Amino acid sequence: MKLGKFSIGIGDRFSHQGKAQLRAIMKASESGLEINPVWNKSNREHMYVHSEPIDTRKEADEAVKALGYAGPYFVDADHINLDTVDRYVAVSDFFTLDVASYIGKPSTQEDVDKFITSCEKYLGQLQIPGIEKPLEITKELLEEISNNFLAATQQASEIYSYLAKEKGVGNFITEVSMDEVENPQTPIEMLFILKMLADKGVPVQTIAPKFTGRFNKGVDYVGDLEQFAKEFEEDVLVIDFAVKEFGLPEELKLSVHSGSDKFSIYPIMAEIINRYDKGLHLKTAGTTWLEEVIGLAKAGDDGLALAKKIYANSLNRKNELCAPYADVIDIDGTKLPSIDEVNSWDSEKYQNTLRHIPEHPDYNPNFRQLIHVAYAVAAEMGSEYTDLLKKYEDIVGGCVEENIYERHLKRLFGI
Ligand SMILES: [Zn+2]
Repeated sequence: MKLGKFSIGIGDRFSHQGKAQLRAIMKASESGLEINPVWNKSNREHMYVHSEPIDTRKEADEAVKALGYAGPYFVDADHINLDTVDRYVAVSDFFTLDVASYIGKPSTQEDVDKFITSCEKYLGQLQIPGIEKPLEITKELLEEISNNFLAATQQASEIYSYLAKEKGVGNFITEVSMDEVENPQTPIEMLFILKMLADKGVPVQTIAPKFTGRFNKGVDYVGDLEQFAKEFEEDVLVIDFAVKEFGLPEELKLSVHSGSDKFSIYPIMAEIINRYDKGLHLKTAGTTWLEEVIGLAKAGDDGLALAKKIYANSLNRKNELCAPYADVIDIDGTKLPSIDEVNSWDSEKYQNTLRHIPEHPDYNPNFRQLIHVAYAVAAEMGSEYTDLLKKYEDIVGGCVEENIYERHLKRLFGI
């Protein structure tokens, strides 16, 4: 099973927007661009929403059938590990093996020595085609990389072996993720992580490193764009080298877990992958949920009233909702409007505050980040929320489609 050159992870918290998301992708294909949709949902999201992995499979299959979509598509068990993978095995065909918590865990000295010995030919100056300066590889560096990543890659291999046994070799896509950590991985680290995965027989098709900069939820990238561009380009070149050198799948590509809406890095990534004729997997998650709230506000009446109630409940429970996301949000509490103020807003004001159009005078990234992490509030509302999603399906679906197509796909793929 092969993932296409371009693919996008379209998370959908409540599994109601599959058709709207797919419409955006089919619209892109009218411009001659094939993008594989991947419906991703992390174990954490399932826990908060009390949904089951089968719901994501149903959503994907139903959308594909309803729209007569004939291209490849996938259902991603996002950020799973050996403890959580079981309920995804039957319904997913894309698995994101999250081994971040194993980074820095010890390995035996024997394993470390064995790995270092296997890397002897790379000691000294290693020239990666396309990277200007040769990489300096020392024994100390290899030791450090081994101590940081051998256990994590071993864990990836154990999850992969389990899946290969359960699903059969070649019947699923393997992604390895290390993005949910504090320290970014350098291109040199990426090179040897890929060697470890190849040594252990993990046919990784996408890899999600942690990049430099802040990938806050739902808002734009915060960081040094030049540094990001350099790192992204070097990662692309390292992957190219690793595929040939270590015999990894030729379609191996970067997976960027964007936390949604990293618009300022989209053109940078687009330019680099075009220049080297490489693929890309981009994962979004909460952007669709935010469009649901925008859609309800746009619908007015009971839709707008519910959007206001979602904000009120979110603000009242801000600390609790933000805690699990502390590393990936930066909310300035002093810039959050009061509940009374929001209750006085009309439909336009609410939409414009939440919608990700940075140059709009009403746009408020603090408001947006809070709603982004507050989907549990809507989950607890149950049918009070989902009934309105159904009632206003056209308006909400229109917002979801427009967001994915206009703000994401167009920017990312230069349509
Ligand atoms: Zn991630």
